[in-house]
Amino acid sequence: MTDTATHGAARPVPARSHPRVLATLGRPDWATHLATHGPLPSLVPNLVEILQNAGLVGHGGAAFPVWRKIASLAGAPAAIIANAAEGEPLSHKDAVLLANAPQLVLDGLLVLAGTLAPRAKLLLYVNPLSLESAERAVADRPDGRRIQVVAAADGFVAGEVSAVVDSLSGGRGVPRDHPHHLTERGLKGKPTLVFNVETLAHLALIARHGPEWFRSVGTPDDPGTRLISVSGAGLEAHVREVDGGTPLGDVLARCGLGETAVQAVLVGGYHGAWVERSRLGAPLTAKATRTSIGAGAGVIHVLGVEECGIHASGAILRYLASQSAQQCGPCLFGLPTLSGAFDDVTTGSGRQGDLLQRMLATLPGRGACHHPDGTVRFATSALGVFADEVTAHRAGRCRAAGARR
Ligand code: SF4
Repeated sequence: MTDTATHGAARPVPARSHPRVLATLGRPDWATHLATHGPLPSLVPNLVEILQNAGLVGHGGAAFPVWRKIASLAGAPAAIIANAAEGEPLSHKDAVLLANAPQLVLDGLLVLAGTLAPRAKLLLYVNPLSLESAERAVADRPDGRRIQVVAAADGFVAGEVSAVVDSLSGGRGVPRDHPHHLTERGLKGKPTLVFNVETLAHLALIARHGPEWFRSVGTPDDPGTRLISVSGAGLEAHVREVDGGTPLGDVLARCGLGETAVQAVLVGGYHGAWVERSRLGAPLTAKATRTSIGAGAGVIHVLGVEECGIHASGAILRYLASQSAQQCGPCLFGLPTLSGAFDDVTTGSGRQGDLLQRMLATLPGRGACHHPDGTVRFATSALGVFADEVTAHRAGRCRAAGARR
């Protein structure tokens, strides 16, 4: 079994264990963190190869291979950024991680710096609600002084990587058209790495225990664990750490929710897609395949059997339309038009059917960021999964509520 420590003899690899990144709960102090996870190597030779063997992908939503992002750096990174902006309303995993295992995130930043760029600026960009946890974690550790904690901008698109760099550069914190990858030109025009905080926590454990340990849970195509924010159907919102490839229904069962309580599940958050109850047996994986469901940003929201998917989807679309950063015409004007046409087609006169189809066809790929693409994906899934409800609404009935709408 590989040990990635650079100093001294190989450490014994801990037994397969679960949970991993949430192995500590309730704001562990520095000593508890070290006792739980062991010392952090100051640098990891062959880091790119180790991460490639581990199969670690980003946990912010895009599931891009971590090794590939590092390998694409145009030079030593001038800045390494831990991203916990978490603008998705249904996501709580980054906040829970920072409340319970913040040192793993900081470990990830420091081992990247030690390996790639000892003089890099290290930034922890956090949702204001997690600011206190983050600042306390940095103050707790003896090597934390070089890490700067910055409050994230507000809004759904605040965590988009170019928005993060824009905010840290003194801008409004909105996505920017970036013809160059941030690994080539990011903060102050220098190579920059931005990773979601959960990604960094996994990286910190791989740096300690190696790729084989990481792969000892999950599946060959979806190794390791992931944090999932679960909510809906009367559940109190909470976060679970599950193995890669865990069936969607098993995740819900661990939260105490049986199949009969589920009408549909929104997977991946507001930029994700609705999934029918018939697919609860499908595994949750980093990227969707023919047989699996893509976990996206690690969000699961359950629509209970008494709820109306049309009303829920319409409300989400109105919210998404309000979250345009108002700088790209197709997004600024297109998303409110899409939202209005969706409401008309699903609960109104239905005269705007052609307009709705035109918006769904033309908006993707038209913004500086993927906000229009994600919104169209969500709307399309709602129209598919709730097709019967659309018909019922048009006939004046709301099937979920069993009443006239
Ligand atoms: S597509 Fe929308 S959210 Fe994205 S940068 Fe343009 S206006 Fe902003």
